[in-house]
Amino acid sequence: TQGDVLMAVQGVQSAYGRIQALKGIDLEIRRGELVALVGANGAGKTTLLRAISGVQPLTAGRIRFDGEDITGLRADLRVRRGISQVPEGRQVFGPLSIEDNLRLGAYTQPPANLAEDMERVYSMFPILKEKRHLPAGTLSGGQQQMLAIGRALMARPKLLLLDEPSMGLAPLLVEEVFNVVKTLKSQGMTIFLVEQNAFAALAIADRAYVLETGNTTLSGSGQELLNNEQVRAAYLGM
Ligand code: ATP
Repeated sequence: TQGDVLMAVQGVQSAYGRIQALKGIDLEIRRGELVALVGANGAGKTTLLRAISGVQPLTAGRIRFDGEDITGLRADLRVRRGISQVPEGRQVFGPLSIEDNLRLGAYTQPPANLAEDMERVYSMFPILKEKRHLPAGTLSGGQQQMLAIGRALMARPKLLLLDEPSMGLAPLLVEEVFNVVKTLKSQGMTIFLVEQNAFAALAIADRAYVLETGNTTLSGSGQELLNNEQVRAAYLGM
């Protein structure tokens, strides 16, 4: 049902050797929400996403998703439960065609879904259809970001994790990526958006958390955080 808690991160800690990257994270994402996570370089944003997708081990805490405890669950099984990540730096497979990249995103799905799901991605990103037989490496940075998002959608996610989707893109393309995120939200997708571009992320988020050296220090609606003095000074350059 719309509005109940889809994911709850409870007291999550994680470390790289002696470096404590996450020190006790609590956050919640409700169905249909667009939740942003903002924070400086090295705050732990990527580590938290990796903990949620199951590739980064926890040293403490729990993660509940869609009514079940997934704390110890393997990453590929989390994809099957409905957690799909668009990784930092896109990481499309350059030598493979656009179509094959999308096909890889569908590996958890029955083959019968493939044609329909691919058409849905193509109708959202017509440029990908036009170029579907070309190597993904020939796409521009912005187009590769669209492909990375399309590939994640092929898994039919209940929760879409986006790691810095605007990174390295020219301002016009940044706007395009944020428009895509808005469109996905309007279609009912639940989204966890990690961004260094705090202004743009807070402007479209229902709610947001601020992460500072492994702790969530502030949370509120996107608008509240946009108006927050601390946030304005630290992240919005005001
Ligand atoms: P960025 O925006 O630069 O990706 P971030 O907020 O995503 O930053 P993380 O990459 O999660 O931050 O890093 C959190 C902390 O963990 C940092 O202190 C970082 O130096 C450290 N760290 C990250 N990856 C490793 C690693 N593989 N080995 C050791 N330390 C790491």
